Order: sequence, then structure tokens, then C-alpha cells
Amino acid sequence: APVVEVRDLVKRYPSGTTALKGVSFQVSARDFIVIIGCSGAGKSTLLRCLNRLLKPTSGQILLLGEDISAVSGGCLQKVRRRVGMIFQQFHLVPRLTVLENVLAGRLRFQNSPIPHTLSLARIFPKRDLEHAVRCLAEVGIEDLAYQRADTLSGGQQQRVAIARVLAQEPDVILADEPIASLDPRSASAVMNLLREIHETKGIPVLVNLHHLDFVKRYAKRILGMQNGRLVYDGPSSLLEAEL
Ligand code: ADP
Ligand code: ADP
Repeated sequence: APVVEVRDLVKRYPSGTTALKGVSFQVSARDFIVIIGCSGAGKSTLLRCLNRLLKPTSGQILLLGEDISAVSGGCLQKVRRRVGMIFQQFHLVPRLTVLENVLAGRLRFQNSPIPHTLSLARIFPKRDLEHAVRCLAEVGIEDLAYQRADTLSGGQQQRVAIARVLAQEPDVILADEPIASLDPRSASAVMNLLREIHETKGIPVLVNLHHLDFVKRYAKRILGMQNGRLVYDGPSSLLEAEL
């Protein structure tokens, strides 16, 4: 069975804009998908529907066969844990340490408020701390565990965000313009990391990108979006001529 199956997905915003006009595709564990398309094509809306930051207007999203398009409450929290997402602007808690940011990822999904004190590490069992440190090691920044998040470079912050997603043990990883705020070297490092996680853990990845050189380097499969519709779904090789 596919990890994710999207059927005829429609998203209309309250403003009246229909950002998705019937999108369908399947994602398997072997997929490293890059989503391309002009600004306003619906790429970000699609990812935000997949992890249910947004509720689709109609259509279905199946996660390992289970329809998540209309779940709410505790089920919704669980969906957001299983569908990890990283963002262009990292979305870390600036006053917390790196380790606490990774741990806070767990709190978010228990519906608990994130404490204002720097004592988060004390309220978690040792097992959770060790797991968080292992996730930091996987992205190569365990030596930064006790630094405050707002002292890090952009590339380091994005690694923390990836470690936080790994700590969720997700079924699929989404990334919405994850390198748009980074210099080229950090951007390559972040994309290499996502590819390595995909290859070693067998987790499918869907990433919105607009730098065409990165699209060519990393995409195994491309979804092309235009005006709320999927207009291309296939290997990057067939698109080379047009990119
Ligand atoms: P990007 O193109 O990088 O995804 P945008 O500048 O389009 O970013 O959007 C930034 C934020 O503004 C997003 O949270 C998006 O949901 C919101 N947004 C975009 N377009 C509209 C709109 N027409 N009305 C209200 N909010 C919008
Ligand atoms: P992309 O990620 O491809 O740039 P988006 O998904 O951000 O596209 O936007 C798709 C369309 O939906 C655009 O017309 C955008 O203005 C609109 N849109 C995005 N977010 C919102 C929002 N929060 N409210 C209203 N319209 C939005």
C-alpha cells in the first residue's frame, strides 16, 4: 500500500481562492519528490493539507490507508506527528536550547504548552533525552545540544528542525521551501541530509523547491503544479529539456 494517497483534493480558502482544484497522486517509501511550480500554484497549500495544518475542502488523504482528511482532536495531533514538516523559516522556539527544541516537538503533540523556563530537559525521562540526543547526532549537531536556538546559523537551525522531525518518528517528511533562506553551501548540506534520511530510513520525502539547479540534483520524481492542478508527475529526466 502507498504511504500516502491523495484523491481529488480540493482546497478553497475562506477568501474564495481555490488553491487546489482536484489533485491526485500516490507516494511510496521509495519516493523523493520535488514539487515545482510558480508562486501561487498551490505547492505550499498541498503540503499544509497533507499534514493537516489545513483542512481540505473535499477529497481524501490516506495515510497508510487511513483517511486523515477530516480527523480532529487527538487524532489530528497524531497525524501531525506522523507527517513531519519542516519550513523555510525553521519555526524553532528561539529562547530554548537545541535539545529542548527537539523535545518540545514531543510536547506539541501531547497538546501541552511549551514552558517558558529553560527546564524542559528536566521534565522528560532519560530515555526521551537520549533519543533526542541521538536525533541530533543523526543530523550532525549533537555538540550544539545546549546552545540556545537563536544563536545558531540558518543552516544549523534547519538541522535542528530536521532533528525535531526525526524525533517524531514520522511516516513521511514534508519540507516547504527548506533551503530558500540558506546560502548555497548550507542549502546543499540540508538537501544532502534529507536525501540521506530518505535513503537510510526508507522514509518518503516531499519537498517544495524553486531553485532549478537543486531540483535537477535531488529529485527522483517531480510533481509539477500550475494554478491548483497537477500538470506533471514523473521522473526528472523527462523534464530536463524544459527546466
Ligand atoms: P510563499 O509564496 O513563500 O509560500 P506567501 O508570501 O505566498 O509565501 O504566503 C505567506 C503567508 O501568507 C502564508 O501563510 C499564506 O498562507 C498566506 N497567504 C498567501 N496568500 C494569501 C492570500 N491571498 N490571502 C491570505 N493569506 C495569504
Ligand atoms: P505556492 O506555495 O505554490 O506559492 P500557495 O499554496 O502558497 O502557492 O498559494 C496558492 C494560492 O492560494 C495563491 O493564490 C495564494 O494567494 C492563495 N493562498 C495561500 N494561502 C492563503 C490563505 N491563507 N488565505 C487565502 N488564500 C491563500
